[in-house]
Amino acid sequence: MDIASNIKNFKEELGEGVTLVAISKTKPNEDIIAAYNAGQRIFGENKIQEMTEKQEALPQDIEWHMVGHVQRNKVKYMAPYVSLVHAVDSLKLLKELNKEAKKNNRSINCLLQIKIAEEESKFGINAAEAKEILESDAFSNFKNVKVIGLMGMATFTDDMEQVRREFSHLRNVFEDLKQDHPQLEKLSMGMSGDYKIGIECGSNMVRIGSSIFGER
Ligand SMILES: *Cc1c(COP(=O)(O)O)cnc(C)c1O
Repeated sequence: MDIASNIKNFKEELGEGVTLVAISKTKPNEDIIAAYNAGQRIFGENKIQEMTEKQEALPQDIEWHMVGHVQRNKVKYMAPYVSLVHAVDSLKLLKELNKEAKKNNRSINCLLQIKIAEEESKFGINAAEAKEILESDAFSNFKNVKVIGLMGMATFTDDMEQVRREFSHLRNVFEDLKQDHPQLEKLSMGMSGDYKIGIECGSNMVRIGSSIFGER
C-alpha cells in the first residue's frame, strides 16, 4: 500500500470522532507531502530539531504535534509554531512552555502524559500528580499554556489484554479528572499496533506511524 491509500483508509476507518496524528519521525519530506496531498494536515514528530526543520520546509498549514519526551532547553525552537505537545510530565515543563509561548504571543496546547505501562522506560506521571499540577496555584497563573487532555503509551507487548487494562485505566483517569477539569477533551491513546484497542477504550486521538509510512 502507498502512503496516500493508507491515509485514505485510516480516515475512513477512524471517521470524525478520532483525530489521526500521522507520525512522520525519521521519514523524509517527500513522504509527508504524499500524506499531505492525500488530505492529511496533522503530523507528529518526537525530536524538536527534526520537527523544526520539517516545519520550515513544508506547507505552513500543517499542524505539528510533538509526541516525544521534551527537553526544556529545546522548547524555544518549537514554541513559535507547535500545535500540541503530547508528553508533558512536569510543572517545570509547563512553566517553560508558558514562558516561551508568551514570548511568541500565543498559547500552546498540551496533554499530560500518564504512565500506564509497566516498563520502566516509559515517561509520565500518575493520576494524583496530574491532579496536583492541574490544581496548583502555579499552573493557574500560566496564561499561555492550556492542558486539553491526556496521553498514554501502553506496554510494548503481544499481550493485548494487558494493553486493554492499561488503556482502560487511562480512560478512567481521564473521566475522573474531567469531572473537575472539563477543559480535558483529548485522549491520545493508540499507535499502529494497538490503536483499535485504544479506540475501544475511549481514545479520540491516535498516533500512527509505521502503518502509514512503513517500518522505520
Ligand atoms: C513513534 C511513535 C508513535 C508511532 O508509532 P508506530 O508504532 O510507528 O505507529 C506513536 N507515539 C509516539 C509517542 C511515538 O514516539
